[in-house]
Amino acid sequence: MFRSLHMKLVLIMVLLIISLMTVVGAFLMNAVVRYYLDDFNTRMSSMFSAQDLYEDLTSPYEGEENGVEGLQDVLRANMGELGVDGRTRYYFILDGTTGAYLAGSDDQLGQSLDKSPNVLRALATGEPATGSDITADFMDVAIPITRGEVPYIIQIYDNRQTVTELNSSIFMLIIQALIFGLICSVLLSFLLAKTMITPIERLTAGAKRVASGDFSRKLEVASKDEIGVLTATFNSMARQLQATIREAENERNKLDTLFLHMTDGVVAFSREGGVIQKNPAAEDMLGRRILPEDTYESLFGDLAPLDQILSLEQPSYQEAERTAGNRSLELLLAPFDQESGQGGVMVVIHDVTTQRRNEEMRREFVANVSHELRTPLTNIRSYAETLVDSAGDIPPAMEKNFLGVILNESDRMTHIVQDLLTLSRFDSGRSELKLERFSFSAAVRDIYNAVLMDAQRHGHTLTLEIAADVPDIVGDRDRVLQVMMNVVSNAIKYTPDDGQIAISAGRNPLRVWMEVSDNGIGIPETDRPRIFERFYRVDKARSRESGGTGLGLSIAKEIVDRHEGIIALVDRPGPGTTIRIELPIEGPAHGK
Ligand code: ADP
Repeated sequence: MFRSLHMKLVLIMVLLIISLMTVVGAFLMNAVVRYYLDDFNTRMSSMFSAQDLYEDLTSPYEGEENGVEGLQDVLRANMGELGVDGRTRYYFILDGTTGAYLAGSDDQLGQSLDKSPNVLRALATGEPATGSDITADFMDVAIPITRGEVPYIIQIYDNRQTVTELNSSIFMLIIQALIFGLICSVLLSFLLAKTMITPIERLTAGAKRVASGDFSRKLEVASKDEIGVLTATFNSMARQLQATIREAENERNKLDTLFLHMTDGVVAFSREGGVIQKNPAAEDMLGRRILPEDTYESLFGDLAPLDQILSLEQPSYQEAERTAGNRSLELLLAPFDQESGQGGVMVVIHDVTTQRRNEEMRREFVANVSHELRTPLTNIRSYAETLVDSAGDIPPAMEKNFLGVILNESDRMTHIVQDLLTLSRFDSGRSELKLERFSFSAAVRDIYNAVLMDAQRHGHTLTLEIAADVPDIVGDRDRVLQVMMNVVSNAIKYTPDDGQIAISAGRNPLRVWMEVSDNGIGIPETDRPRIFERFYRVDKARSRESGGTGLGLSIAKEIVDRHEGIIALVDRPGPGTTIRIELPIEGPAHGK
């Protein structure tokens, strides 16, 4: 209840007024008593030290029998000046040696009273005793006198009723003032609340809205005082905060999008090893989902301990490699945000599968080229050496034979180098297709006619079947013929004599196709995916024997790819091989 500023204000005002009134009342009442006491003492002292009264009191009448009566007379005569009224103030005549009550303005009271400290003092010293205790409920003076040689003590006794009545009036007055003050303080606090607390409450409500992210309303600046300035400052602060939050959100959205779509995988861990962030690429590369219960330990603990990465100095990082399924991954492990003490470890994953495969292929290619060139070179060199060493000693027929081998081998080398040059031209993009419209069926027929003799020499049965609707196509005729020739001659080469070779051609809605199938040695399942690779040969000896370089199908594939066509092995049951070529009718960029 007292937590609101308003209630606190009321409470403070009430306490202030109560304490003020209490202090003022206490002082006032004390001052009244003191004044009354002082006045009483002064008056009594001056009365009794006055010559007239003193003489009247101490001089007995002529022939006086009872001094007490004489004293009574004198005192009664002076009652007015002494203030003795029989209600609040009394006089008593006491025995001067024992202090016993003799007479007074009120016998009953006089007899019942104990000896006051002043009376005792006067009895002891014989001197007038004045001054009463402020806390006592009466005040008195005791004046010793002697009348007719008899000692008496005159006591003027005041029961302080007057001052008590005065004090109760003051008390009542103070209570009234207090009630009035309290009412005023409550009213004042309402006024204060209106002018000070209401704007503060409005400011508080505004601050709460801003804290909950609602920047839609601006606070009204109602005054130019400190609260007005505070409200204006608050408004500008809220504006700036909103701008900053928007900027930060924008940045975060950008980063989120980047994070989501980046090709590298990223996984961030807290210092304790829990997963904080991960992107789809990371899950894709690792080949598994990253779940909330996964930790650094379970995902990458085998590469390096978490503490070791956390202890690295930025910008150092640790590299590691791993394979996931058939992917080769390169991982960079680095600590982040070390200064705040909150950071953790970031793992960036690169998929280096293609890179590794390319490196591997390049190495293999160089080894293959060297090997392919070294074999004919070795042959040429050994035959040439033999010829040089045995110049004139060998029969001319053998010499001719040797020279024939040398010529053959150099032809083979030229062949290989030419094929390599063709491939290199394709690789560097220097080989442009010379596009023209030509008859696809005529091209197939030309190839059939060109190889017919060779096929017959091997006892093969070569058949040709071309559909009637095969249209003219756009392409590089010479290159297409090169592809067809390569496929058909492979069928002849890799089919033992007396085989069956069938060439057929037809069309799809957008493409033409040609298939060459044989019943030859076939290609084992494991080698099938690789026969379009450079220098890949199933049986090296057989291929070399028949003049193959292992580059024919890779060149064919390059050419068909350029035409945006397809060259592939067809899965057919039974022995032999079927190769299918598909080309877009309208040439590259029209075949899809
Ligand atoms: P090559 O010059 O050795 O013939 P290619 O690139 O033309 O090279 O062929 C690659 C390999 O594919 C060949 O060495 C051979 O092992 C295999 N091959 C190609 N065509 C056939 C086929 N019709 N039958 C069996 N094997 C084949």
